[in-house]
Amino acid sequence: MPICDICGMEAVTLYECSRCGAKFCDECGDPKRLLCYDCLDLESEEGWIEEEWEEWEEWEEEDWEEWEEAN
Ligand SMILES: [Zn+2]
Ligand SMILES: [Zn+2]
Repeated sequence: MPICDICGMEAVTLYECSRCGAKFCDECGDPKRLLCYDCLDLESEEGWIEEEWEEWEEWEEEDWEEWEEAN
């Protein structure tokens, strides 16, 4: 049986990630988007950073302290 590049387990069906080319099983990614779990993570992180970054640049030191307390 083929082996998943992500979890290292044998899988009946493997999909090939359209981004990094890793072979992943249906537990380790999104077969519909053809993205492995790692790349799904990357895609959502990139989107998140782009959205949040502009606001953060304007933050003062105090804002950071408040933010750290709140989290
Ligand atoms: Zn897997
Ligand atoms: Zn990938």
